[in-house]
Amino acid sequence: PRRHDVLIVGGGAAGQAVTGSLLQRQPDLDIAIIEPSAEHYYQPGWTLVGGGVFDRKQTLRPMHDVMPEGVKWYQAAAAAFRPEQQQVVLEDGERLGYRTLIVAPGLTLDWDAIPGLRETLGRNGVTSNYRFDLAPYTWELINSTRKGRALFTQPPMPIKCAGAPQKAMYLACDHWRRSGALPDLQVEFCTAGAALFGVADYVPALMEYVDRYRINLAYQHTLIAVDGDNRLARFRVTDAQGNSEEVDKSFDMLHVCPPQRAPRFISDSPLADAAGWIDLNPETLQHRRYGDIFGLGDAGNTPNAKTAAAVRKQAPVVAENVLQALKGQPPRAVYDGYGSCPLTVERGKIVLAEFGYGGKLLPSFPIWLVEGTRPSRLSWLLKEKMLPWIYWNAMLKGREWLAKPEILTHRPADHEANAACDF
Ligand code: FAD
Repeated sequence: PRRHDVLIVGGGAAGQAVTGSLLQRQPDLDIAIIEPSAEHYYQPGWTLVGGGVFDRKQTLRPMHDVMPEGVKWYQAAAAAFRPEQQQVVLEDGERLGYRTLIVAPGLTLDWDAIPGLRETLGRNGVTSNYRFDLAPYTWELINSTRKGRALFTQPPMPIKCAGAPQKAMYLACDHWRRSGALPDLQVEFCTAGAALFGVADYVPALMEYVDRYRINLAYQHTLIAVDGDNRLARFRVTDAQGNSEEVDKSFDMLHVCPPQRAPRFISDSPLADAAGWIDLNPETLQHRRYGDIFGLGDAGNTPNAKTAAAVRKQAPVVAENVLQALKGQPPRAVYDGYGSCPLTVERGKIVLAEFGYGGKLLPSFPIWLVEGTRPSRLSWLLKEKMLPWIYWNAMLKGREWLAKPEILTHRPADHEANAACDF
C-alpha cells in the first residue's frame, strides 16, 4: 500500500486545522487526508442560521476549496485501523500506510436512537440546528409559531457545542419577545442533565434570561420518542432517587438536539476507550497505547468542551507532537483543555463561556473588554463578524498567531504512551 508520513482521517474542522498547522511548520511534509465528503461545513454558524442572522450558504464551502495544495486527498471513508501494521483500511478494502496517523472524524449524530424523529424532521414543527438542511426551518418555525408550546431538548452529554440547544431557544424567545408573541407561548427546556450549563460561573447570567423569557426548566428529561403527526414528544423523566417514568408532552414547535456518540468505525476499533471515543492523553493528544497515533476534535475522549474553539488550540499541539514523533522524539506540546461556547442569549448579545479542563475559566480577553460571565455586545460582534473569517482564513490555515502551543522543556509527568514509534 501507499505510505504517507502523515495520514489524517477526517477533513472537517480538526483535520483541516491540524493540516494547516503542520504545513506552517513544514511546507514540504508528505500529508494525505481521508475524507468522504465533497462539502466542508462551518457548523458554529448554524445557530445563527436558525436565528435568522446567517444564510446557510455562508456556512458551506466545497471540500476541494478547503484542501490545501500539495496534500493528497483520498475521497473515501476510513473503515478500520490496523495499528500494528501502521495501516488504515478504506471502505472499499484499499489500505493506506502511514508513519504517523491523526484521527479526526468528528462524532455521529444518532437521529435514529429516537423512534419517530427522522421521519418528522423538517415538518410538523420539528427541527434541529444540528443539520445544515434543517437550520433554516428553525427560523421558519420561529416566525410562524405565535402561540402554544415550544420544546427545546438536550440529550445526555457529551455533545458537541453543549450550549447550542439553549442558544436556539434564547434566540427564538428573543424574537418572540420583540414580536409580541412571547406571552402566548409556553417555552420549555427539556434537558437530560441536572444543570443549565456545565460550568457554574455562567449559570447566573443564563438564569436571568430564563426568567426574562419565562422558560420552564425541565431537568432530567430525556427525549425518547417523537410522534410528529400528533405533535407529541415522549420523555423519560428521572427523579432524584433514580426512579423514572415516561411523560408525553404536546408541542407546536420542537427543536431537537440529537443524541451523540463516537463513529462506529472508531468505537469498534482498537483505538477506542470503553465509551467508544479515541483514547488520548489529555495533554499531548497522543494515543495512550500507540505512540504513532494522535487524535483531536469531537471524536477524542479528552474531557474538554467539544467545540471548534477547542480544535483551534488542539491543532498546533498535535502538529508539534506529530513532527516530534516523525523525528523519533517524545511529545513536547501540551493542551490545557480550552474550549469555548458563545451563548447567544439575545440577538446582539452573547455570554462568552471560555474554559479548560476542570471548568477552569480561560478568558481570551481582558475583563474590561469582555466580561465572559456577563452578556456582551462585543462578543456578539466577534461571533457574527469575526469568527467565521478567523475560521476560514486563520484556523484552517494553521496561522501561528491564532494559537501558540505551550511547549514543555521536560516530558509530561503522566505520559503513558510509547515514547516514539518504531519506523
Ligand atoms: P467535524 O467538523 O464534524 O468534521 C468531521 C469530518 O470527518 C467530516 O468532514 C466528516 O465527513 C469526516 N468523516 C466522518 N467519517 C469519516 C470516515 N469514516 N473517514 C474519513 N472521514 C470521515 N463550536 C464552537 O467552537 N463554537 C460554536 O459556537 C459552535 N456551535 C455549534 C453549533 C452547532 C449547531 C453544531 C452542530 C456545532 C457547533 N460547534 C461549535 C461545534 C463544532 O462545529 C465542532 O466541535 C467541530 O466541527 C469539530 O471538528 P471535527 O473536525 O472534530 O468534526
